[in-house]
Amino acid sequence: MSSRTFLCGKCGALRRASAIYRQHKETLAQSQTSLRWPKHCGEAMQVLSYEQGVAANKLNNQERIGWAGKGLFIIQRCGKRKWVPALNPRQIDEAKQQYAAFLNDRRQGSRTKIY
Ligand SMILES: [Zn+2]
Repeated sequence: MSSRTFLCGKCGALRRASAIYRQHKETLAQSQTSLRWPKHCGEAMQVLSYEQGVAANKLNNQERIGWAGKGLFIIQRCGKRKWVPALNPRQIDEAKQQYAAFLNDRRQGSRTKIY
């Protein structure tokens, strides 16, 4: 079973939990309020992508709260598992540019439109 990293936006805690699969016709908001969804500090935790999880592990709790407030952007550095959190405006710009380039590559690379 695959697992995900969840982040508490209030205290910055990280938790590994099994991936939550959305039930039929359930919205994301409904999944987050369901009992299956990990909670911390009385609130639904935020689910991170694998890359965001790698970046999150490089921060302490206090830094993660700030990062969550800035949109959880990440920058990919050369090499494996080299995702770092984007914390200042310059890094966030870089992260957005990388993401735009990534989406662009994906569009050009696929012959059939799947979205
Ligand atoms: Zn918490």
